[in-house]
Formats: sequence, C-alpha cells, structure tokens
Amino acid sequence: MGAKTKIEWTDASWTPIRARHKETGKVGWHCEHVTPGCEHCYAEGMNKRLGTGLPFKPGHRKNIEIFLNEEMLMAPLRFKQPLMIFVCSMTDLFADFVTDEWIDQVFAVMALCPQHTFQVLTKRSARMREYLIARDGMGNAQLCSAINTIPELLGNRHGALEMPLPNVWLGVSCEDQQRADERIPDLLATPAAVRFVSAEPLLGSMDLRTYLRPHTRPNADGYGGNEGPGWTARFTKLDWIIVGGESGREARPMHPDWARSIRDQCAAAGTAYFFKQHGEWLPIHREDETGWQADDGGAPGRFDGKRAQFTTLDGQEFAKVGKTRAGRLLDSVEHNTMPEVRR
Ligand code: SF4
Repeated sequence: MGAKTKIEWTDASWTPIRARHKETGKVGWHCEHVTPGCEHCYAEGMNKRLGTGLPFKPGHRKNIEIFLNEEMLMAPLRFKQPLMIFVCSMTDLFADFVTDEWIDQVFAVMALCPQHTFQVLTKRSARMREYLIARDGMGNAQLCSAINTIPELLGNRHGALEMPLPNVWLGVSCEDQQRADERIPDLLATPAAVRFVSAEPLLGSMDLRTYLRPHTRPNADGYGGNEGPGWTARFTKLDWIIVGGESGREARPMHPDWARSIRDQCAAAGTAYFFKQHGEWLPIHREDETGWQADDGGAPGRFDGKRAQFTTLDGQEFAKVGKTRAGRLLDSVEHNTMPEVRR
C-alpha cells in the first residue's frame, strides 16, 4: 500500500495494478487519457519521473507489461487500524487493460478488510456499472472464488458475500457538465453502499440538482422504473461531492462561483460537500494599481512581484500562487463534510 497520502479526503492510497517497461524493466503504472480532466494527470507525471518513464498514452501498451502485484494486493490485510483507502489512485481500476479477474481480486481483498473504507474512483463509469451489476446479490460466485484463490487466506473461506460491499464507496470523476451527464447516471445505476462524485479538476460550472435527488435504480436486467420483470424500487442518490481546482505547473484556474454553486446545491439537497482546494490559482481582487488581496483574506500581494502570473476568467482575477498558499477556504470556510455511513 502506498505511504500516507497528502490527498485531503483519504488516509492512504493503494494501486496493485502495475506496469513494467519491457526494455528497461522499470516498474511504474499505466493509464490512458480519456477526457480533458486527464490533461495534466498527476499520476502520469509521477510515472514519467519515478515509474516506467512513459506517458499515459494507448500507444505505449506495446512497451509495457501490465500486471497485478500480488504483494501489494495483500497490503490492506496487514493494517489492523481502520483506514480510508483510495483505490487505484495511480490508474483507473475499470480501464479496459484491467481484467475482470484482477478486479475480482481487488474486491475480494476489500471484502476481507471490513475494518477499512475503500474509495474507488473512475472515469470509466459504464464498465464499473456493468461489473457491479453482474456481481450484485448475495453469494457472488466470482468474488467468492477470487477470495479462495488468495493463498494467505485459504483457511478463511467465505461462502457468501453481502453485495454491495458496505465498506466500498464508488465514485466517478467529472470535470464539467458534459462528463457529469455521461457518468453520474451510470453511478446511480451501480449497486453501491455510498456513491460520490469528485469534481476535480473542476473546469466548468455544473448543475447537479437532478442527481442530488433520490432516483430509482434499474434492476439487474437493466430495467428502470416499473417497466421490467421482477421490478423492485431501489432508491439511490449521490452521497458526497468533492470539489477541487487543478494543481501542477500547467494548471487551469477554477472559478470560485462554480465551487459555490455546487456547495449551495449540496446544502439544499442535504448532501455532504468537501472543498479540497482552489488549486494553483488563488481568486483575488485588485486593491489598487500595484497591489492585490486574496478574496478569502491572507497576506496581500503585488502585481509586479517576482515571477508573478495572473489571469482572468469571467471577470474573476486570479494569482498563480501555488496549491499550498491558495489553500482550502471557500468564502472563509473550510468544507470537510464526509458522508454519514451506517455500517
Ligand atoms: S483516468 Fe485518471 S489516472 Fe488515468 S489518465 Fe485520466 S486522470 Fe490519469
């Protein structure tokens, strides 16, 4: 398992899906851009520096061997104290280069670690929906057999699993309205104990109101409402929204009104809201010709300062001060709400 992470909404990260460069033997990670939110992927930057050295492009599949690292797979079992664990923070568990058998093994370990809470976040929402619907219900055969293939646990067989796993939270990453409209309906149709959205990097305004209301989830046959055989109403809704601006050298600014709007939609719906960060760009206002002040207070700055960089978006001015200085205050408040979970 990865070391303690700096990500504000979790304790640790865990990425047992790894990649090995066929020529150099260097081990790192692999993923592939699918959307504008991937443009400045931090995992790709880390892989270029510390992993296989390759960018996250489909063309590089031929240069690497993707594998499930068995030692890393078992890592959560060794931690007895409860942790929040971000699953596959360095790739996407539901990408098409990850086999169903590997996903079964990851879910098997999560089933065997009820002390932890696992947070699975994907941009491949359709595959997540299909995978979880196929494994819904009691006594799931594939997952139970995956558990029995874990050698360390052969003496600890499970005959049945309660699905969805109560300690697994499923989420989709959405950077704008288009991706929210593509991915959130999949998430709402996915069996899950807790559903969340990570709007980071937030690249545009989002109206989530329709998704923050309870929905009926289609049954395993894919029917919604009362149109299919064996229909039973199962109400689902989003439980948690995380909002954050982009970090990194080429980060794009996040308008604070986008974050405010989602905060207010969550408040109206009674949904947990977590404001992770402004990102690289701090919202500011002009004090005079030479000086500026952060909208949320803090030390003033100068427009002619060393390496000063400024930009404007829809009438809002920003200074590029870095993620740490830009901070986590939205209208002078830190928003750290997590979903309330009954286990
Ligand atoms: S899906 Fe995630 S890990 Fe993969 S390229 Fe996009 S941002 Fe990076």
